[in-house]
Amino acid sequence: MATNTRFKFPCPVCAGIREVRLTKKDKPYITCDPCGIQVFVRGPAGIAEFNRLIEQGERDGLPARIREMERRYRLTCPKCGFKFWIERRLIKTSGFDGSLKGFLCPSNSCGALVSWEEKE
Ligand SMILES: [Zn+2]
Ligand SMILES: [Zn+2]
Repeated sequence: MATNTRFKFPCPVCAGIREVRLTKKDKPYITCDPCGIQVFVRGPAGIAEFNRLIEQGERDGLPARIREMERRYRLTCPKCGFKFWIERRLIKTSGFDGSLKGFLCPSNSCGALVSWEEKE
């Protein structure tokens, strides 16, 4: 049960443009079939930020949105402080529903799970 919206948003991993859908509880998410992930935006702050990014993309066009993505899609590992770009090979998804849980820190022997959604 999902509602399609007229908005589009880039996949955080491959940057392919995907349709934004809403769950039954009106929480936005995107599904990327090539990557095999679903990215849910949880929490009021995350949803507000997500909507702001979408509105900005509508106004400024895709290049601005891609620049914004690049800023957002660089993570810092909370355990070892290593900074990295998120990559498909680092994806950690839930075995239960395939939703995105986070990204594995690529730093040697760290392997911490770094959340994308909570990196504000
Ligand atoms: Zn993707
Ligand atoms: Zn780390």
